[in-house]
Amino acid sequence: MKKALVAGAGGFIGSHLVRRLKKEGYWVRGVDLKKPEFSITEADEFIVGDLRDFGVCRSVLDQPFNEVYQLAADMGGAGYIFTGEHDADVMHNSATINLNMVDLANKHKVGKIFYSSSACMYPAYNQEDPDNPNCSEDSAYPAAPDSEYGWEKLFSERLYLSYSRNYGLNVRIARFHNIFGPEGTYVGGKEKAPAAICRKVAEAKDKGFIEIWGDGNQTRSFLYIDECLEGVRRLMESDFIGPVNIGSDEMVSINKLAQITMEVAGKNLEINHIPGPLGVRGRNSDNTLIKEKLDWSPSLPLKEGIKKTYEWISLRVNNT
Ligand code: NAD
Repeated sequence: MKKALVAGAGGFIGSHLVRRLKKEGYWVRGVDLKKPEFSITEADEFIVGDLRDFGVCRSVLDQPFNEVYQLAADMGGAGYIFTGEHDADVMHNSATINLNMVDLANKHKVGKIFYSSSACMYPAYNQEDPDNPNCSEDSAYPAAPDSEYGWEKLFSERLYLSYSRNYGLNVRIARFHNIFGPEGTYVGGKEKAPAAICRKVAEAKDKGFIEIWGDGNQTRSFLYIDECLEGVRRLMESDFIGPVNIGSDEMVSINKLAQITMEVAGKNLEINHIPGPLGVRGRNSDNTLIKEKLDWSPSLPLKEGIKKTYEWISLRVNNT
């Protein structure tokens, strides 16, 4: 039986990944500061611990796992990353976790280690036009991410690649683009746009209004969680190191995302635009490389993913 370690197993993507690996027949150890908030973990073993602490990492990564998935990071949506108030924590916490984990993965000669980078590492200067952002993998340099979160991701990508070059560590790196779905944070300040909009629409009375940060013309693409995991598993099974985008190329404005959510909910609401932290003007996943290397790319329409997510969030909102 293959053994996997999932770091960040209490988080949104990590808890879904544990479930997926269990379905595939793995023995799984999960580790996180906290257990999953919205479901009971399916990990065979779950360790609550702080991966900034090298001693904790050593006790968790104590054997040559077949696969390690390093998803733990200090992160959140725009309300967390772009205000500037959390910059030092984001950089220090996530970099420390990665420094610890990659070193121990190398010492124990794990089979493969996956690192989740982010589209936030792409240069801001290529994402000023909402209709034509450039996020092809080779556009990363000259580097100019618009947040410290993005700079840390870029640093850690390079960290993992250097272990691959110098020590032959078998790494895989993906740049995730806005992953969403059920069991993701939807309230409290760390939620992302799809979850926040689903919550606002679920809370609003028909003919009422919802608030959106900025003019709503900023563009993004959003990838449903199941497709994200499919991409991760395909990358792990392939010989391609990456970095490669794992994202949807169905780019929409935030206003359009709100409209789709209202259609799904069957509600007709006004949109009030208010000031708020925004990030870049446009962003979309460029899927040329993933198609070439993995002969696959995500295809689920955004509306389908929003349906499943809205259903989950509206049940929770209306039961509280
Ligand atoms: P998440 O915040 O739900 O999960 C991250 C988990 O890491 C959390 O459960 C948190 O408790 C844990 N963690 C943080 N610090 C820790 C520490 N010191 N020790 C142990 N655990 C710690 O986020 P997610 O959406 O599941 O994202 C998973 C990974 O994917 C992250 O690395 C994130 O940067 C990356 N990513 C996510 C998205 C997205 O849209 N969700 C996009 C790009 C990249």
